[in-house]
Amino acid sequence: MNTGIVIKNMNGYFYVQDEVGNMHECKVRGRLKQGRYSLLVGDRVTFDPAGTIEKILPRHNELKRPHVANLDQVILVVAAHEPDINELLLNKLIVMIEHADIPLVLCINKCDLQDDNTAALEALYRQIGYTVILTSTRTGEGLDVLKTQLHHKVSAFAGPSGVGKSSLLNAIEPTFAFQTGAVSDKIKRGRHTTRHASLYSLDGDSFIMDTPGFSAIDFSDISEERLTSLYPEFLAVEENCKFNPCYHEHEPICGVKEALAAGQISTGRYESYLVIREEIRSQRKW
Ligand code: GDP
Ligand code: ZN
Repeated sequence: MNTGIVIKNMNGYFYVQDEVGNMHECKVRGRLKQGRYSLLVGDRVTFDPAGTIEKILPRHNELKRPHVANLDQVILVVAAHEPDINELLLNKLIVMIEHADIPLVLCINKCDLQDDNTAALEALYRQIGYTVILTSTRTGEGLDVLKTQLHHKVSAFAGPSGVGKSSLLNAIEPTFAFQTGAVSDKIKRGRHTTRHASLYSLDGDSFIMDTPGFSAIDFSDISEERLTSLYPEFLAVEENCKFNPCYHEHEPICGVKEALAAGQISTGRYESYLVIREEIRSQRKW
């Protein structure tokens, strides 16, 4: 029995890459086709040499949109400039990724255009505990670090359009040939094509998802209490909150508000929390 990873689902076939990098066109046993346990891109499987997938190995995680399994990390890309970093949008994306329980790496691209604000944000997110990588596809800075970060992992790139996701992927692996540039062209191209995500193989066991993850921001399945746990720097001080749960807003003795007043928690992060909390509450009302 061979083991491999499902990298593509097309025309009723699943394409499985085995451990030495060979591709196998496979069919699945009937019971794996439908229902809750249907086979997903990213699944690790066992299959017989004739091309029948026998078994899905245990999943680490499952993402709904795009529907894939076993993502090891999300590379969240923003640009130092053009477009400027929108901190609220960035924090919303971070909350979505934290909620999906997938490790997150922040990549600040276009660092050839960086200013003081870039360095401040880099320091802020490092202090929270995230890995932060500065890259430029223009100067080549940071591309080796990014490449090393992708090693032995299945990664999805996420982030606003125009920040350079396609350019980064092409810089890492020129044979990818993702289309870059004018946003309007890309939107036109994508509008009428719904398709499955596929994994691109970087080398033997590094894979990149070809579809940007977390492109729709949707907090509908996050509760107010869950939200408080999606800010790592809040968790670090919540033992000083008098109430449990504490929503860190109107409660009198609150570790998060104390840390905020002492400048240990960033105002931008805290304000994003209030905005998201309000969005969750107004959705509830409807
Ligand atoms: P995507 O929408 O996130 O996939 O972004 P693209 O890869 O299409 O890039 C958007 C624009 O940013 C293109 O015009 C790129 O040439 C430009 N770009 C990409 N990376 C960099 C960079 O590191 N520095 C600068 N100055 N421009 C970049
Ligand atoms: Zn509190």
